[in-house]
Amino acid sequence: MANFEQIKLKYGAKDYAPVINQETIETHYGKHHKTYTDTLNKLLNDNNIDCSSITELLSNLDRIEDENVRTAIKNNGGGYFNHNLYFETLAPKDTAKHEPEGEFLSKINEAFGSFDELKAKLKALALSQFGSGWAFLSVTPDGSLVATKSLNQDNPYSEKSGNTPIACIDVWEHAYYLDYKNLRAAYVDALFDIIDWSVVEKKYEEAK
Ligand code: MN
Repeated sequence: MANFEQIKLKYGAKDYAPVINQETIETHYGKHHKTYTDTLNKLLNDNNIDCSSITELLSNLDRIEDENVRTAIKNNGGGYFNHNLYFETLAPKDTAKHEPEGEFLSKINEAFGSFDELKAKLKALALSQFGSGWAFLSVTPDGSLVATKSLNQDNPYSEKSGNTPIACIDVWEHAYYLDYKNLRAAYVDALFDIIDWSVVEKKYEEAK
């Protein structure tokens, strides 16, 4: 039966400091992300839902008849996928590739004007998300790029946008409160120092 697994962190929990400190990584990855993952697996097993693709599951939530089960799978499946993407695209400041290049950069310039404008757009989305949620950078079906925001653990799959998310910013307070308290903007600014654009670029290549 279903057994989705958290992505493994490629770096140690303390290696993302000072942008994100060890306690936040340990709590966020080891508790929050783990709970979404465990709860998703339990929901699928308890309800005999056989699906090995998280993107397929989230793209076809309307096939789940029971409304409570559907909502729980949207929330925990979204939490599972979104955190996999988040943690996969982060790297220590000294290791992360800080700027995209080549064809990917051209696509960014085409969609947003410049890399700086992309970051400004993602930041604006992250700050304007009232309450908990995410900002996403995604590839559209025609291969261009778009930035959006989502509530709670929703994402471009559960929203049936047709887009493929390749980078994200978690703006739930659990992502930044220990390090930045209520200063979401300071967290988002700092997070750009540890987004590894070589990973995002690879995801763009796969999605386009
Ligand atoms: Mn989170």
